[in-house]
Parts: sequence; structure tokens; C-alpha cells
Amino acid sequence: MLRSICWIVSGTRLHGEDLTACSRDEPKPTPSGNCRGRLLVSGTVLIDVHTHVTPPEFPACPDAAAAKRWPCMQCSGEQTTLFSGDKAFRVLDARSWDAERRIADMARSGVSMQLLSPMPELLSYWLPSGAASIVCDTVNDHIAEMVAGHPAYFRGVGAIPLQDVAEAVRAVKGLRSRYGLDGVEIGSNINGKQLGDPEFEPFFAAAESEGIAIFVHAIHPVAKVADMSAQYVSVVLFPVEIAMAAASLLMAGTLERYPRLRIGFSHGAGALPAMLGRLDQGWKRADGFGGRIEIQPSVTARSMFIDGNVYDPVLLRHLACEVAPGRVFAGSDYPYKIMEENIRGLIDRACFSDESRNSIEHGAALAFLNASA
Ligand SMILES: [Zn+2]
Repeated sequence: MLRSICWIVSGTRLHGEDLTACSRDEPKPTPSGNCRGRLLVSGTVLIDVHTHVTPPEFPACPDAAAAKRWPCMQCSGEQTTLFSGDKAFRVLDARSWDAERRIADMARSGVSMQLLSPMPELLSYWLPSGAASIVCDTVNDHIAEMVAGHPAYFRGVGAIPLQDVAEAVRAVKGLRSRYGLDGVEIGSNINGKQLGDPEFEPFFAAAESEGIAIFVHAIHPVAKVADMSAQYVSVVLFPVEIAMAAASLLMAGTLERYPRLRIGFSHGAGALPAMLGRLDQGWKRADGFGGRIEIQPSVTARSMFIDGNVYDPVLLRHLACEVAPGRVFAGSDYPYKIMEENIRGLIDRACFSDESRNSIEHGAALAFLNASA
């Protein structure tokens, strides 16, 4: 029987690469996780691209200008709490900094390798650039040490002070040579500025020319107002915020100007799948958004990498089969309370073909990191 491929449209090849297909005659997922007819087999190499690190200690605050938001770990009994200035930010444990503890957890959950990234609050865009560089260096040093000590289990991306683009460009050039990292984690906005702002163009140019990966993580949503709870912000605004970051880059034409960028978005790119049809329509009706972009946004979106941290097998399948075939990798948000506890189970419930499953478990991650198995 002729297999019908569900994403035959222009743009199934990007930058000369073959993309992974999902066929319509594969079993379909259901929210309850019943794949209707497929024998589930777990067990290939699984790379978790969305995991965070916080160093166990920080240097002393360098000056009064940084004091209000300077990170500091304070221990009280069994608890270790990260403070930002004099405010408690989050209670943490050894999973945030201890390589051996993480490796034990990985063995239990069937994760073969983690990509380590900074706890987003450590990106420090709100600090003066010099002080932020000290925090970035501290977290980069710790991630580099974990990677160097356990290269079979960890790869890493670091932090740069993107509130100072010239300094950030200098820092990009040292990520690989100084720290042995594969790239950088950046926030979804930089002190309220969208990533498509022309101010950040030199950073994207440097990232492309240096060949580093960029992992964009939701941070301090611009839609937040004072009376919203932290839970509401995390659960409701993060998916809106990360979609805004992706849409900003699509509408600004950044991904057209830097087609070799390897850029990944956290939290399944949030609401982006629901925006793509409207972005395409706006692109048509507004003459390529005022001539800024030539290719329709939903086609360019296929060059983005997206993590599978969505907790929903139907949405995971939609991302992998329709939004960004071959570009969706696994992500858990380890070690935080909201993390996906069973990545393999989530992938099982999405009922992928072996080819699609391999792509999500490790193929897309290796492409994102420009690495081989
Ligand atoms: Zn995260």
C-alpha cells in the first residue's frame, strides 16, 4: 500500500537535509496513551536536552549596583535555597550541581545523556554587564567541570550577558574554546526586548559563524503583571512567552538571514503551533511583513529545533510530524518540580514509527549539537 506522508508541502527539505516523516498509517496517539495496535518498544539512546544546573556556590557580590539581584546559596538545615538579593528564589538540592546524583537519576529514568544548561534565573540580564559576566563565568565553569568529568553522560550550553551585545559576542567566542561547551542558553526576552530586535543581530551573526547551538528558554514573561502568582506565570505564561520569542524571530527574518543557525525552543515552543496559520496569513496579507521575509513563517519554522517538554503525546506528535519534522528532541526540565518524570513513557504514548522515535530520542538532539552518536 502506498504510504501517504502527512507533511508533503514545500519545504520538506531544509538546508539540504532530509527530514523525518510521520505517515498517516502509523497508529495514532490518544490522550490516555493507547496507541491502538502498536507494540511499544523503549530502549534506544535517549538524550534529554532540557535540564538545568545551578552551581553550589557563587562568588561574593562585586558591588552595590548588583546587590539587589545577586545570586547566593543559603543553607538552613537540610534545605539549600537560591536567593536573589535578599529574596528566596527556589529551594534546590544536589540534583542541581552533583554529577553523580544526576547520573543515578538518569539510570532510573532511562536517560542516556543530558544537555546541561544554566538555571534560567542565572542568565542575569538584570545585572550590570560586568557583574552578570561573573555569574555567567561561575555557571559556565561548573557546567564545564561536569561535562569534562563525565563526557559520556553530559554535554553543556552556557550563559552570556546578552544585555550587553558586544560583551555577549566576545563571550560566544569563548564558549567552546574556554569551556568546551556546545552553545548557549538565552532567555526568551532580554529585559523585555524581543529577540527579533535589531540590537541582537550581532549575537545571532556570531552564533552562526562560531557554529554554536542556541537553546531559547522562557524567562520573565513580558505579559506578567504584578498580581499574577508564580504558578500562573510558570504554567500559563511560559508557553505564551516562548512562542512570542519564536514568532519574533520569524517575523524579523532573523532565521532567513542566518540559515545555518541551530536554534532550539523550550517547552515545545509553547503556543507557536497555534500561531503558525495566523503568521502565514499575516505574512501573505502584509506582503512578507513589509518585505522583511520571503519565506512563509510555517516553512521557516521547520528549521527550528523544539523540545518535547509538553506532557501531551498528541501535541508531541503534532510537533514532530507537522510543525518541525526531524527537529523535535526530548526535554524534561530536570530537576524542577514541573519536570516530565517519564520521557520514554511520553514518547511511547505518541505512537511514533521507529524512525520518528529515533529522531526524537537522539537524532534531532545530535543534529542540534552538530554531533554524531
Ligand atoms: Zn527549563
